[in-house]
Amino acid sequence: MSWIAPGELRRNEPMSRHVSWRAGGMAAQCYVPKNREDLVDFVRSRAAGEKLHVVGLGSNLLVRDGGLDATVVLTHGALRSSTVAGSEARGTVLEVEAGVPAPKVARMAARLGLAGAEFLAGIPGTMGGALAMNAGCYGAETWDYVVSVTTLDRSGRIRVRTPADYDIGYRHVALRDAGVAASAWPEGQAPLEPDGEWFLSARLAFPEGSSENALQRIRELLARRVASQPLGQPNAGSVFRNPAGDHAARLIESCGLKGEREGGAEVSRKHANFIVNRGGASARDIETLIRKIQERVLRECGVSLVTEVRIVGKPLEVKEIAQ
Ligand SMILES: Cc1cc2nc3c(=O)[nH]c(=O)nc-3n(C[C@H](O)[C@H](O)[C@H](O)COP(=O)(O)OP(=O)(O)OC[C@H]3O[C@@H](n4cnc5c(N)ncnc54)[C@H](O)[C@@H]3O)c2cc1C
Repeated sequence: MSWIAPGELRRNEPMSRHVSWRAGGMAAQCYVPKNREDLVDFVRSRAAGEKLHVVGLGSNLLVRDGGLDATVVLTHGALRSSTVAGSEARGTVLEVEAGVPAPKVARMAARLGLAGAEFLAGIPGTMGGALAMNAGCYGAETWDYVVSVTTLDRSGRIRVRTPADYDIGYRHVALRDAGVAASAWPEGQAPLEPDGEWFLSARLAFPEGSSENALQRIRELLARRVASQPLGQPNAGSVFRNPAGDHAARLIESCGLKGEREGGAEVSRKHANFIVNRGGASARDIETLIRKIQERVLRECGVSLVTEVRIVGKPLEVKEIAQ
């Protein structure tokens, strides 16, 4: 008997529903697994040539208007368990599945009286996305707390890995063993995710602290975000990585680009490293604005800004930039 997916497989799924920019093209297919076992079975059941991409809450993602000729697997709501899994030298260990929202981990750790996870409270993605991006803020990064991760590759193999297996840096995570990427993926089908493996879960260790202090710090960090970020409009957080020793927002602002528009996309007036969707922005509007910012900052400041957001999907011609 052939295997029937217990999750939900949809065709021609608008990815604008699944990315925080609320813009962009379709995925040819989209699968919402029932749980971790179902996700593993699903990956194993798919033909080797079918491209699969794992997406969390889409808070760092732009899918071009031409769409993704691939099956997108959504982890949010599917890989959602988070438990206390013992303790080790660095503290209490939480085992968190990849689809759990990062803010939930911050609150869970705080309620348990643990310290250090507060920074996750304002990162509106999943733990899988936080692991893939090494998401961080206010001096802390996701991988500072990772004891181990469980991964799944395109062939359906599950592995437990430790941070020593990865090259980890600022918004950067890559497997040291590049052979995995070469063997797991058909030529020319580079994955979005680090080296062709997806994160299923992570074990994170946080030291003892005080619940009251952690909850207070979460409130403070969230208040700082409300004051400095355009949270009322669809966005994807910082568009560009900060260049060494500087801030992308400062450079963009110094070029007078705050408020710059392209179609429905606008450089936020509140935070210059954010692009907001004022309503009806296409992925092309957003990408054109990104290129415009890069050109201006290079020309006026001599700095090449590198995107932090991941841009995927079929390339559409980017509009001519008016000089
Ligand atoms: C208002 C706002 C504020 C933000 N503030 C911050 C901040 O302070 N610091 C910061 O670092 N980021 C910030 N971000 C960006 C974003 O929230 C983070 O990068 C987040 O970690 C992305 O998680 P996600 O689930 O949304 O990932 P997605 O956007 O869904 O995916 C991002 C990348 O991760 C990959 N991915 C997702 N899940 C997995 C998985 N299970 N296994 C392997 N790869 C996976 C995807 O394929 C994609 O390449 C902000 C975004 C917004 C909208």
